[in-house]
Amino acid sequence: MFMCSSATRLISDACDRRLAVRELVTLRFHVTICPHCRRYRQQLAVIQRLVQLCTGDHLSPEAVSASVRRVLKRQGLDPDAFPRS
Ligand SMILES: [Zn+2]
Repeated sequence: MFMCSSATRLISDACDRRLAVRELVTLRFHVTICPHCRRYRQQLAVIQRLVQLCTGDHLSPEAVSASVRRVLKRQGLDPDAFPRS
């Protein structure tokens, strides 16, 4: 049986490599029925987006801050709950 531990490993793997078709199909099915892994995938996507924003040198610090706040709000998170740099 495909477990959450396998799903989260594949979700993380998908950040670093292209999943095989079998892995992708299995993962998609699991994420469809499992709200926990669906949430984990969403959170990982947010983290990836925030890291991209914060490591890009093409934006000013103010633009990065505004973008981070926008991403957090879009996820239903309170940007003021996070420390500012
Ligand atoms: Zn799961």
